[in-house]
Amino acid sequence: MLHWQWQQAFLGPVSPAALLRRLGGRVLDVLLPPRCLLCRAPTAQPHQLCGGCWGGLRLIEEPACPTTGLPLMGQRAAIDQYLLMHRHARREPWRALLAASLHDNAARALVHRLKFHDDEAPARFMARLMFRRVHGHVPRNALIVPVPLHRRRLWARRFNQSMLLARHLARLSGLELAPELLRRVRYTTPQTQLSGQQRRYNLHHAFAVDSARGQMLQGRAVLLVDDVLTTGATARACARELLAAGAREVHVAVFALASQRDALHI
Ligand SMILES: [Zn+2]
Repeated sequence: MLHWQWQQAFLGPVSPAALLRRLGGRVLDVLLPPRCLLCRAPTAQPHQLCGGCWGGLRLIEEPACPTTGLPLMGQRAAIDQYLLMHRHARREPWRALLAASLHDNAARALVHRLKFHDDEAPARFMARLMFRRVHGHVPRNALIVPVPLHRRRLWARRFNQSMLLARHLARLSGLELAPELLRRVRYTTPQTQLSGQQRRYNLHHAFAVDSARGQMLQGRAVLLVDDVLTTGATARACARELLAAGAREVHVAVFALASQRDALHI
């Protein structure tokens, strides 16, 4: 009786099975408290950053430039004018480049964790921030397409980090995932080892829309997903291929935007 009262007071009415589950969960929490994805400091929730690492993340908010993805700084009227002009004069094959954060400090460390450790936790966290950025910008019938890796590199690394982000983004957004739609048909030198012009040449005819799946693309919007955008050469080559194969428009979602500038002052 006393035990029952204790249980009522602290836990509420519960079945023995639920009580065991609760106790089990608490034991696990004590044994394995949630830790920061980057520095391993204790955190309140699992799959999060601690306050210090979170402070090192520079998230991109609206208003942002649809062409470069950079945050826009200036008078509201000037920003509205800028956005209006960009709606007509598009300098890139994408309708909008939606980057969750700038590629420095914590963002760089997360991208590194994602790329070189076969670990789901950073992907889940990064996709949540990407979802926050793309939400409301992409048509409801858009297809999610990850930037593909060549099968030789996939074999060496065992997983495609863009695919991992795309899968989580599809789950969060409810958008349809088309993982095999775009293929990397030519093995290319890693882009990081090349200059801007070499990058463009390197990616010439590197991607192709799978002929068996091309039909699903007709007239659809696409959300192309990658972890980082540096010069944009990869996203540009993919977007052009998707548009040539029948996509109505392409939006690009990346976790981190590597840029010389951290904002456009207008
Ligand atoms: Zn931390």
